[in-house]
Amino acid sequence: MSLIVMKFGGTSVGDIERIKNAAAKVAAEIQRGHKVAVVVSAMSGVTDQLIGYCRAITPRYDQREHDAVVATGEQVTSGLMALALQQRGLNARSWQGWQVGLYTDKAHAKARIVDIDAKALRASIDDFEIGVVAGFQGVTEDERITTLGRGGSDTSAVALAVALQADRCDIYTDVDGVYTADPRIVTAARKMPRVSYEEMLELASLGAKVLQVRSVEMAMRYRMPVQVLSTFANEIGSDLPGTLVTEGNEKMETNTVTGIAHTRDEAKITLVKVADKPGVAAHIFVPLARAGINVDMIVQSASDDGVSTDVSFTVGKADFERALRVLEDEKAAIGYDRLVSVKNVTKISLVGIGMRSHAGVAATMFETLAEKGINIMVIETSEINTSVLIADEYTELALRALHAAYGLDGG
Ligand code: ADP
Ligand code: ASP
Ligand code: MG
Repeated sequence: MSLIVMKFGGTSVGDIERIKNAAAKVAAEIQRGHKVAVVVSAMSGVTDQLIGYCRAITPRYDQREHDAVVATGEQVTSGLMALALQQRGLNARSWQGWQVGLYTDKAHAKARIVDIDAKALRASIDDFEIGVVAGFQGVTEDERITTLGRGGSDTSAVALAVALQADRCDIYTDVDGVYTADPRIVTAARKMPRVSYEEMLELASLGAKVLQVRSVEMAMRYRMPVQVLSTFANEIGSDLPGTLVTEGNEKMETNTVTGIAHTRDEAKITLVKVADKPGVAAHIFVPLARAGINVDMIVQSASDDGVSTDVSFTVGKADFERALRVLEDEKAAIGYDRLVSVKNVTKISLVGIGMRSHAGVAATMFETLAEKGINIMVIETSEINTSVLIADEYTELALRALHAAYGLDGG
C-alpha cells in the first residue's frame, strides 16, 4: 500500500464542480488501495482578491495580518474538499497549516518551512482518514499564521510528502505535464515524460511557474519523485501519464536545450554615465542589497573614454519603484548622470544540462533573434542556461522562433 500526496492547484478547485471532480480523482486512488493526503490551493483568483483587500486598506500593510487574511483562501478549499470526499462516502477531514504542525520562519508572505511535525496527520491517515491539508500556509513558533509565497502550495505538498515519507507527490494542475515551453504561448511545445530535478529547478527559477522553485529544491534534496499531471484528463497518477520529475538519466543529457522558460516579472534599470573607477559597483549594489532588493542580470558596458560607463541590471517588478528610490537617494555617493528604466521587459532562458558540453548554443539564439529583428538588452549565461532580456512585445515571437530553432517543436 503506497502513500501518495495529491495536490490540486487553483484552477483544479476553481468552483464546486471542479472540487467534486478533484474528489473523484482522490477516490480513484483510494479505490486502488493507496493511502492519500490531499493538499489544496485557494480557488483560482481568490488569493489575488484577498491581497487586493489588504491593499485597499493600506498599501503598506502589516505582513502578519496580510498572511492572516490571505491564508483563508486555502482554509475554504480544504473544508470544501473534505466535504466533497465525505459526500462520496469517504472518511476525510481538513487540516490547517497550524493543525498539521507546519512550522515556518517569520518571513511573512514568503516564509520558509523549518519543520513539520506530521505525527497527528500520519496517525489519522494510517487510520484510513484522508487528510486534506490547506496548502500555502504555516505557523511560526510564536503562533502567527504565515504564507509561503505565490505558488507555495506546491512546496507545502512536497514538504508534506517528505514529512509523511510518501511514495510520490502528484501535482494536479491545468496542464497535463511539464512542457518544453509554456504551452499556453508555444502551441508546438511538447510534453516531457521525464525531467531531471536539476533542469526542473532551472526552468522553475527562470519562470516556468508550473512548479514553485522551492518545491523542486525540496524534492531534489530529499529525492522525492514528483509528478505533474492534469486534473481535467481521465487518468490518475497511478497510470503515470504526466511528467515525472526525478533523477537525471543519460538520455536527458544528450539534449542540448531541454526547454525554454520566460518571465515577465523583471524590470530593467540603467545608470547612465557612472564613473569608471573601483568601488562604483559596490556603491550601487550594496544599498540595494541592504534594502532587501534582489538584483538579477547585470551588465556593464565597456567604457570608450576611460572616464564613464553605463551599468544596467534587472530587479523584480515588485521592487522596481523602491529600487529607483534607493538609487536616487544614493545619487551623490554613486555619481551617475541619470537613470533610465524599462518596465516592459521579458527574460527568455534556454535550459539544458547538455549545454555544459556543447559549444555554439548561444550563437544560435542570437542569430534566431536577429533574424526576427529582436534586440537583446542583456545577456547572461550559466552552466546550464543562457538568458536574454528583450522588449515584452516580442515575447511570443521570440519563444516560438527559438523553440523551432532548437528542434523542440512537436511533430
Ligand atoms: P496551479 O494553479 O495548478 O498551481 P499554475 O498556474 O501555478 O497552476 O501553473 C500551471 C501553469 O504553468 C500552466 O497553466 C502554464 O501556463 C504554466 N507554465 C509555464 N511554463 C510551463 C511549462 N514549461 N510546462 C507547463 N506549464 C507551464
Ligand atoms: N493560492 C496561492 C497562490 O495563488 C498558493 C498556490 O496556489 O500555490 O499563490
Ligand atoms: Mg501554481
